[in-house]
Amino acid sequence: MESKLIAKGFTGKILHVDITKGTTMVEEPGEAFYRMYMGGPGIGIYYLLHEKVQRVDPLGPDNVLVFAPGLLTGTQSPCVPRFTVCARSPLTGALGKSEAGGYWGPQLKRAGFDAVVVRGQASYPVYLWIKNGIAEIRSAERIWTEETGVAQDRIRAEVKESRAQIAQIGPGGENLVRFACITNDLSHFNGRNGLGAVMGSKKLRAIATYGSTQVPVVDGLKIKEIFRWSSDQFKTNPLTQTLHNLGTPAGIATNNALGVLPTNNWQRGFFPQASEIGADKLAGYLISKGGCFACPLRCKRVVSVNEPDFQVDSRYGGPEYETLVMFGSNCGIFNLRLICKANELCNRLGIDTISAGMTISFAMQCFENGILTIKDTDGMELRFGNEKVLLPLIEQIAYRRGFGALLSDGSRIAAEKIGNGSEAFLMEVKGQEVPGHDPRVKTGMGIQYVVAPNGADHWFSQHDPFFASADSPGLREIAPLGIFSPIKDVDLDTDKARFVLYGAFLTFLYDLLGACVFGFVGRGAIPLSLVLDLVVAVTGWNTSFWELMKAGERVHTMARVYNNRCGMETKDDKLPDRYFSSIQGESDYGHEGLNREAFTTLVRKYYAMAGWDIDGKPLKGKLYELGLGWLSDDGDI
Ligand code: SF4
Repeated sequence: MESKLIAKGFTGKILHVDITKGTTMVEEPGEAFYRMYMGGPGIGIYYLLHEKVQRVDPLGPDNVLVFAPGLLTGTQSPCVPRFTVCARSPLTGALGKSEAGGYWGPQLKRAGFDAVVVRGQASYPVYLWIKNGIAEIRSAERIWTEETGVAQDRIRAEVKESRAQIAQIGPGGENLVRFACITNDLSHFNGRNGLGAVMGSKKLRAIATYGSTQVPVVDGLKIKEIFRWSSDQFKTNPLTQTLHNLGTPAGIATNNALGVLPTNNWQRGFFPQASEIGADKLAGYLISKGGCFACPLRCKRVVSVNEPDFQVDSRYGGPEYETLVMFGSNCGIFNLRLICKANELCNRLGIDTISAGMTISFAMQCFENGILTIKDTDGMELRFGNEKVLLPLIEQIAYRRGFGALLSDGSRIAAEKIGNGSEAFLMEVKGQEVPGHDPRVKTGMGIQYVVAPNGADHWFSQHDPFFASADSPGLREIAPLGIFSPIKDVDLDTDKARFVLYGAFLTFLYDLLGACVFGFVGRGAIPLSLVLDLVVAVTGWNTSFWELMKAGERVHTMARVYNNRCGMETKDDKLPDRYFSSIQGESDYGHEGLNREAFTTLVRKYYAMAGWDIDGKPLKGKLYELGLGWLSDDGDI
């Protein structure tokens, strides 16, 4: 059959899998579809909306799970390895959307598909094997209950392809832990929103892919030229150099020095032992710097501990900033090799380190305040700094055993069960635990946390400090979007809302393309003009940066419609109360709490700027302007 597709960069094929019936079907939606929805969350949210997957049980057969690499993913463009997974989230009840790098997304494109859409629920454990355009559902009974490393080895042996890339869940996903993740190559994660539990509910243990076909592009020489240029820039740009040399753990020292390092469940912003868990100490366990497909930046940490009484396996990568904070300062723990082990254990068992660490630190604060006692915790002294509880609790959570079972549904549901005022210690938005970035000193982060469709998400828009001064490289680079004045970290003026909105369109665009934010504006060295050049070099489209930003805006609005249809309301766009009081620390850093009224007003302004009404519902005119009239005609907005 002749393909309907014209543009290069796509395979033109979307694989649909009915896992209840055990059948597969290939759709060829044609170029108009790709031009509108491009890839990643555009394709993912399209299917969720199109098939009205809103009020379904997130862990039932009617939820739909979409895996979609970005438009540029799989080409030799620099820093574009990412793919998105979407479904209704069991953690938030809203849009589940999570990106991962690594090698799986490129391999899916090489195997012949732009996305995989999974429906139904298998009656026994299965995995999907996709090789060079052929998809096959296989029994996963031999690997069910195994840790991720064992499962990966067995699947590769079974399909007789050592280069197969495996996106899979671990025991956490099998046991429907509401913050279970999806891992690929054991060290890259669709970490957030509990999408691993959606896979688990479908009894889909893994999707293995292998392809030997290059993703076609229009102008390979241009892509090579941009790749070489970017590699050179990364060697001299101070931000990308820091990322390469120290990785995200560099943020530990920076944030502690500013008095904004989450400590003891966010009760303080300064951790006296921060130097014990920072990038310099981590270097002592570093065996290499890891990376993703076609990324010259290589920012990932790969650690190993090989001591007589303690081992950490390097196959599972190493802790990022978020993991070091959540299991470290936020639990009051400064034993770095233990944190490396906690990271490895989460990766073996397939649970998100941010939500795991945050849920444990929430329970610690409950314990310290007498709301939980050792009678509740199976005898565990759940105090901040108690190293002994960390690994047993992670295991209990992943296997839903003992006291840990209470935490397996995330902190919000745990608080509902614990009661007694425990909700005062929650640090979550829409049920998703907050990552390690404090909105009191990055007010734009606060807006992000509340308007992001998927709960507290630090990759919904850009981070304020990279645009804070007149000489910030980020500010120079973002000027083509019409942002010329410094974005002060603590301002709550209309410019801040505009910055977050444009940043959200840009970040959604990166997700549509499969781009990693570390390589691009405002963290990296690749300017906006080259993003356009890459799209043209890959697709051959007669396009503009205006069209690309509109694509980002389109999916931003689609996500809002999806959430509204899930029953989310403006009251769900709410920060934890703690951010409205000042930050406590060892010394007075002068970080005031957010002004509640000013913050609420700004969120309303964000709605208005986005073309949403006072209730956060996109206006019909905005839908038509974005080419989304079908959503207006289709039901509730
Ligand atoms: S910068 Fe880091 S996370 Fe991003 S693509 Fe490169 S190696 Fe992966």
